[in-house]
Amino acid sequence: MVSMATPVLLLLRDPSRSTGYDAVEPGEPVANALDLGITRGDGIFETITVLAGIPQALDAHLARFDRSAALLDLPRPHRAAWREAVFAAIDSHDEVAESFIKLLYSRGIEGSALPTGWVWMQPSADFTAERVEGIAVVLLDRGYHSTVAQTSPWLLQGAKTLSYAINRAAVREAHRRGADDVIFTSTDGYLLEGPTSTVVLKLDDRFVTPATELGILPGTTQESIFEIAVLNGYHTAYERLTPADLERADAAWLVSSVRNAAPIRAVDGVPRFVDAELTESINAGLASRTN
Ligand code: PLP
Repeated sequence: MVSMATPVLLLLRDPSRSTGYDAVEPGEPVANALDLGITRGDGIFETITVLAGIPQALDAHLARFDRSAALLDLPRPHRAAWREAVFAAIDSHDEVAESFIKLLYSRGIEGSALPTGWVWMQPSADFTAERVEGIAVVLLDRGYHSTVAQTSPWLLQGAKTLSYAINRAAVREAHRRGADDVIFTSTDGYLLEGPTSTVVLKLDDRFVTPATELGILPGTTQESIFEIAVLNGYHTAYERLTPADLERADAAWLVSSVRNAAPIRAVDGVPRFVDAELTESINAGLASRTN
């Protein structure tokens, strides 16, 4: 059940400077009708889980925020200003078991040279069913070759941009096919990522995820899972993976902030084994992160 706690909204005065923020009523608009984030999807975002008042993997999220801004030639986000706004949002928010914070950063009104940035915090939905029973996925061709990030950096593969209409359309296609979620593949047949998640496979004693050189986001949840796996004696690797690897994997997950590790229980309608015990220990490990 989603908590009734009131969301918190903070508007940064200048997201690329240490000029502070203002608290805004959650129902009030923060962006102009001509903001390029709205009219062109020209901006970036991050979604961060907050557990017991701790923003999970905050440094990794802020580093990825910087990386996305650089890929879009946006002014560099002022790291300390965003960090301060994150903790201010947490201070103002009711304490709930699981919540999330979104950092949103757009190019601002066309011609103004002043980017727009805001921080939103609200309770998370309940993802128990996805974490325990698992999710059915379909493989969908993203239409890009695995070298897209090198050949065509202007396609912004690997940046967390506000242009998620394609990702949402892919999930609707999964629903049409009777599944819950998607694993994108490259035109040359490699596993990429989900529309809002990273693919992690367990192959014997190794946890393996697709290499980011394939034009995918470096996942903060996957990074935490690799740390947990190493502490538990597993090896980890970033590799080129194929649907055949997914088929032979001992276990497979889509992992992301907020939902955490969702075991994959079917691929293109074919049921696959869910390692409930290992999934539970991964999610317990994620829930016990202290930063
Ligand atoms: N890949 C994409 C395209 C995403 O949008 C996300 C998160 O939303 C992820 C991977 C997973 O990243 P994280 O684990 O940092 O949430």
